[in-house]
Amino acid sequence: MFDYTAAPDLLKGRIILISGAGRGIGAAAARACAARGATVLLLGKTEKNLNLVYDEICAAGHPEPVVIPLDLKTATTAQFDELGAMIEQEFGRLDGLLNNASILGPRMPMQQIPDDKFAEVMQVNVQATFGLTRALLPLLQLSEDASVVFTSSGVGRKGRAYWGAYAVSKFATEGLMQVLADELDETHVRANSVNPGATRTSMRAAAYPGEHPNSNPAPEDIMPVYLYLLGPDSKGVNGQALNAQ
Ligand code: NAP
Repeated sequence: MFDYTAAPDLLKGRIILISGAGRGIGAAAARACAARGATVLLLGKTEKNLNLVYDEICAAGHPEPVVIPLDLKTATTAQFDELGAMIEQEFGRLDGLLNNASILGPRMPMQQIPDDKFAEVMQVNVQATFGLTRALLPLLQLSEDASVVFTSSGVGRKGRAYWGAYAVSKFATEGLMQVLADELDETHVRANSVNPGATRTSMRAAAYPGEHPNSNPAPEDIMPVYLYLLGPDSKGVNGQALNAQ
């Protein structure tokens, strides 16, 4: 596991948006960031999942989050810009963006992947990540110390048979991170990527239906690298591809 212990007040006063915050790794990241003092903006497709995370964070006495239901499959530039305007009006800046939402898509030989399935994975995992990040960059630039984290995968660093559009989308995610990091070099906004590694979520179960879920760490266990990258201890770390495990 990534060797880092987050201080209890690591993210005090920070405003952090997390996509795919309703379940899995994104929900764990939202709880972990809120527990360290951040106000988390919970973006996801399914409002009831986001509301459950909102309730948990409030019940634990952490800063009140904001629920942002948005389907990244259909989200438009205008919706991303509206979101940016809402955050600017409410908070005046953004200190962290965790691009975490993704879909797996079909795992099959490349020869058999239908056009629409390939496009859907690229839309949610790449196009929407780009659109969201572009819209929020001006707000990140208003922060004194901001961090963008892109969620990659092992198959975004080395392609493997049958991982199809998902693997291609994760290579593109690394590309987004590298280009942005180079543009942001020497500024107070940094961009890095995280490969979570095998983690006990519904996506992992869909990819490996025969695997015993308990053979992988829970999302809560892989939080150190996320907290490191979203907090001030990673200041100056830019353009890096890190592993949670
Ligand atoms: P998950 O349990 O399937 O959760 C995916 C999240 O993405 C959900 O919160 C989901 O929201 C959101 N999402 C999916 N489609 C969306 C859409 N159209 N609009 C908005 N939100 C959408 O997956 P996970 O395992 O936590 O994965 C989190 C990240 O880690 C992903 O980027 C994944 O590729 C990466 N990853 C995971 C593993 C692993 O072993 N788990 C390994 C490597 C990389 P809803 O609840 O609304 O559907």
